Amino acid sequence: MVHQDEQRFDLVVVGAGSGGLAAAKRAASHGASVAIVEGSRVGGTCVIRGCVPKKLLVYGSAVGEQLADAPSYGWPVPPVVPRTQVLLDHVRREVDRLNGIHEAALNRAGVALVQGWGRFLDDRRLQVGEQVLRGETILVSVGGQPVCPNLPGADLAMVSDDLFLLERFPGSMVIVGGGYIACEFACILQGLGVAVTQIVRRQLLRGFDRGCVASVEAGMVEKGTVFRKGVSPQAITSTAAGCRVELSDGDSVEADAVLLATGRKPRLVGLNLEATGVAVEGGRIPVDGDQRTNVAHVFAVGDVTDRINLTPVAVDEGRAFADSRFGGKPRRTDHGLVASAVFTQPELATVGLSEEEARQRHGEDVRVCEARFRSLSRALPKTGSPCHLKLVLGPQERVLGCHMVGEHGAEIIQMAAVALGMGATKADFDRTMALHPSISEEFVTMG
Ligand code: NDP
Repeated sequence: MVHQDEQRFDLVVVGAGSGGLAAAKRAASHGASVAIVEGSRVGGTCVIRGCVPKKLLVYGSAVGEQLADAPSYGWPVPPVVPRTQVLLDHVRREVDRLNGIHEAALNRAGVALVQGWGRFLDDRRLQVGEQVLRGETILVSVGGQPVCPNLPGADLAMVSDDLFLLERFPGSMVIVGGGYIACEFACILQGLGVAVTQIVRRQLLRGFDRGCVASVEAGMVEKGTVFRKGVSPQAITSTAAGCRVELSDGDSVEADAVLLATGRKPRLVGLNLEATGVAVEGGRIPVDGDQRTNVAHVFAVGDVTDRINLTPVAVDEGRAFADSRFGGKPRRTDHGLVASAVFTQPELATVGLSEEEARQRHGEDVRVCEARFRSLSRALPKTGSPCHLKLVLGPQERVLGCHMVGEHGAEIIQMAAVALGMGATKADFDRTMALHPSISEEFVTMG
């Protein structure tokens, strides 16, 4: 088919999430003509229905604990009930503001925003509504979407995307899953007065240091989350009050609503990738270290490649791609030593190897130093779970992993990641003067 009004660009980016936006703006700054295609809102999962609104909800939820602590600090605040409709409304307004900022930034960068869902016609051309875009280079950065288990009644449940659209949070909720999203929302909702039951079929937070996960779980239980472990959901049915989840042990749990937080997968549906010849393996687009697919001029970054599905990783992949392809500055993203945090209450943050991973790799050469203590901020309220700090040491006492459960964990581990990236040893940590009184001083004083 001949398209008279085909528009040509040096780069066509499909998906305006974290990775796609970073790549598009960086490529434009190198002088490339760039179009970016987005069927939903500019900003992607992180800005619209992920990291940012989620973290705002975490802050909103944590206010409850501060209010509960207030009397012990001399602020006679009576018990209050949160108005979750106000919180959700304010979060949505902030998301709208950020969406506008991202659109304006594209405009300033000279990137053409084409709104609509893209469908490939071949390996260089993409149909978006009535328009046809031709890119000498194509970047696929379409991100991911929630996976729903094949469960009778699954359509009665929500996924995390839906939570941000609610008018207000329900009174009780069953959350299915033991991953990042399930645990973070269990804590957000519990903190906002929602009675949460979390169904974990195997391990909570699989892949994280087991000792630290045990500390997170203990903290969540103390705050009220009820765990049903070692069982799977079999079916969801509706009841007069809400939903019932039938479990594999024959029992069932009832709540006002059910959240399925059972993982995410690349969002390939509707793209017609077949027309490009780009290989898909296990539902993801495999790429090499330059983000290149098996088709030489088609690249992919972010969650669609399903490697480390975190915003800063996608951003760096996008920029490395653009610098290499359009800026004459070839570089690759380093996927080693990526710090991450689970914004549970208490917070879990980590960089490097878990104790289990270190022992698998280095056996007897592994030594673990850890400290558990109640932080000073909990001394007057006399409530709250202990902090848990852990260093995993390998041969020559090199710090292979640094883990933390407790207040400001993400902020602290971000800086520890610098030290680990430089190859710090336990002696380097010990040589560092403690900053007192703080939580992280334990990292440089523990035995
Ligand atoms: P995860 O893969 O982390 O967790 C999925 C959970 O669902 C697992 O516990 C899994 O159990 C369970 N599960 C899957 N299928 C079923 C089923 N049929 N019945 C019961 N349980 C089931 O996915 P998430 O959706 O939580 O997060 C997706 C990704 O998003 C993360 O991996 C992360 O990359 C990113 N993310 C990062 C955040 C951050 O950085 N703070 C926050 C949120 C998301 P099992 O382990 O047994 O398979």
